[in-house]
Parts: sequence; structure tokens; C-alpha cells
Amino acid sequence: MSENATRRATRDSPEELLDALLEHIPDLVYFKDAKSRFVRISRALANRFGLSDPAQATNKTDFDMFTREHAKQAFADEQRIICTGLPLVAQEEKETWLDGHVTWVSTTKVPLRDREGNIIGTVGISRDITEQRRIQDELREHRAHLEQLIAARTIELTKANEALTSSNAELERFAYVASHDLQEPLRMVASYTQLLARRYQGKLGSDADEFIGFAVDGARRMQTLIQDLLSYSRVTTKGQSLQLTHTEAACKSAIQNLQASIRESGASVNVGPLPDVIADGAQLTQLFQNLIGNAIKYRDGRSPEIDIGTKATASEWIFFVQDNGIGIEPQYFERIFQMFQRLHTRMEYSGTGIGLAICRKIVERHGGRIWVESQPGRGSTFLFTIPRAERSRE
Ligand code: ADP
Repeated sequence: MSENATRRATRDSPEELLDALLEHIPDLVYFKDAKSRFVRISRALANRFGLSDPAQATNKTDFDMFTREHAKQAFADEQRIICTGLPLVAQEEKETWLDGHVTWVSTTKVPLRDREGNIIGTVGISRDITEQRRIQDELREHRAHLEQLIAARTIELTKANEALTSSNAELERFAYVASHDLQEPLRMVASYTQLLARRYQGKLGSDADEFIGFAVDGARRMQTLIQDLLSYSRVTTKGQSLQLTHTEAACKSAIQNLQASIRESGASVNVGPLPDVIADGAQLTQLFQNLIGNAIKYRDGRSPEIDIGTKATASEWIFFVQDNGIGIEPQYFERIFQMFQRLHTRMEYSGTGIGLAICRKIVERHGGRIWVESQPGRGSTFLFTIPRAERSRE
């Protein structure tokens, strides 16, 4: 076959067109007789077989090229095509050669018919896909490796999580037991220092009076801290079950409990309509009470104006308690929710720094989040979410 033959083929006989195809197409084309012996093969296939001339393949079979196992499979496929007349399309085949190396092809084989339509063999065309397979295998391996890594990491995380949960539970128990059991001896210290103060005030000299004063004050402060710690740990240890709760009523009782400071500060509290939620009612009251109490306490000299309301998203209710007080610097937005973290001295504003930590614990127990939006001098808005759990209310 020559350059000439190819050029003429565009004008000449079908035979020459076929020659051109077999000579130049990089795919592997072959004609086989009814016994699967090669009749003709393309130049590319001859190269693959290590033959200098395609004609050398004539009468050879797959058994001369490939392992017995592969040749048998190919033979069986071709016999089926000859018997049934049905083609085999784009089948991926693994070829193991006699020297042991392996290649992959995508093969299409159809029956070869004579002029009368009788099946006299097969004609096939294969495309080498070894490289694609290699990449695919590599990807598969990477993926399996990644999956292994993820599985291992998941186990680690699960273990870490379990350890954390159990150490959390232990800490909670510790906080509860410590604060609960410290109360009794502390009550004793407090009452005896108070007794000392009452009985010996002015009798032991001014130094002694001052020292006793410090002791009384210290004992009182420690009582408050322990009381706070106990209320904090009671959010989980003494929480009631969550059930459909009338939020407006919970908020009203918070306002009721704060009547004295509301009156004293001249605060106005506006409560918008609030949805019923699944909650622990007493804790909801405590939550509102802490937030409204702070809104009153951290006022800036004007009468406090407090707005309470709610916004809905698809999955949760966002409640807000907005004030016109002193506001908070952004760098403290996180810190104020931690236990005993305060931004002021006891001289400026009373308190121990437990209120917002309790708020956060209550909100988290209800599956929500709490945060603050504020600017110094422009008031603060505390927001918290509670998941929506709409129930049909027949
Ligand atoms: P406490 O009021 O006992 O200090 P909280 O945990 O309730 O404890 O509050 C922590 C800190 O957050 C307060 O010390 C205060 O600085 C700040 N804070 C809380 N609520 C407000 C508010 N409405 N406006 C301004 N600052 C606030």
C-alpha cells in the first residue's frame, strides 16, 4: 500500500477505500472467518502484533497472540455473534499477551456476511483504552484511600466526641457537687463572721473592725458565686422536659419578677406577639428575665426602652431583646457569654457575670444559638433562636 493508493482511493473503487482505511486508521480493525482465523487486519493491529506486514496475520488466531484464557473468551464471543447474528458493542476487554503484558481495548464486533446474507465470520474494531483504564484505576485507588482516611478520621472524631461528652458530664457533676456541698460550710463561715461583726464591732480596735468587714463581705460574695455556679449547673441537672410552651406567658412572668427595677428605672418594655415553642417554660422565663434585667441594668442614664419580638426563618424562630443602653464593644461579643466574664467592676454595676452564661446554656439546651449585636452608646440587641416545631393545633 502506498501514498498513491490512498490518494487514488478517494476517486476509485470501494476496495481501495477499504485499503486506505485499514492502512491508516489508528484503531485495530480485523476480519475473521467463521473459525475466528484472521482474514485481514489493519496496519495498526499488525504493529500491535509485532508483524511487519498485515498479511502475515492471515490464518493466525488469537491463540497465537494472547493467553489461552483471553483467546478462548474472544473465540466464544465471536461464535455467539455468528450463531445469533447479534453484535457486541463497545465491550471493555482485558487482553493478556503471551509475554505477560496487559492492555485494555474497547471492542465492537459484528457478523460478517456474504452477498446472500449468510454469516461467514466477524468483523471487529477495537480501540486501545489502556491509558484511560490506568487513570481510572488510579482514581479508584485514590478514592478508596481517601475513603479509608475519612473512615479512620471519623472513628477518631467519634471517640474524641464520646470522650468530650463524658468529660463534660463529669465536669457538670463536679460543678454541681462542689457548689452544692460547699454551701453548707460556707453558710457556717458567713453566719459566724456576721456574728463576730455584730458582737465585737467597735470593741477590738478599728483594724479588727475592718478585717471582720472584709471577712463578712468575702463570705457573702463567695455565697453568691456558689449560688450562681449551682444555678448554672441546674440548667441541665434540674431542667424540666421540653413541651409546647406559651412564650408570651413566660415573658410576662419575667417582666412581673422584674417589676421593682422596672418601676425604679422608669423602663418601658414592649412585647410583640411571640410564638409558642417547644421549651422548658421556667427556663424560658429565666432567659427573658436575665436579658431584660441586663437591658435595665446596663442603661446609659435615660429611661430604658426595651423591645421584645421575634422573626421567623424556615427552620427556627429568632427572638430578640433590644435596649437603648450603653452598648458593647464588638471585641467582647463572645466573651460576655462565658462564665464569670464581666466588662465592669462591681462598683460600676453589680453582678457576677453568670447571667449570660446561663442564657447560653438554656438556649443550647433547646437546640438554639445566642449572640449579641451592638455598638457602644447605641444600645444592644440580644438574639437567640429556638427551632420551630410546629404541631397541628386542632
Ligand atoms: P453580669 O450582668 O452579672 O455582669 P452577665 O453574664 O449577665 O453578667 O453579663 C456579662 C457582661 O455583659 C456584663 O458585665 C455587661 O458588661 C455585658 N452586658 C450584658 N448585657 C448587656 C446589655 N444589655 N448592654 C450592655 N452590656 C451588657
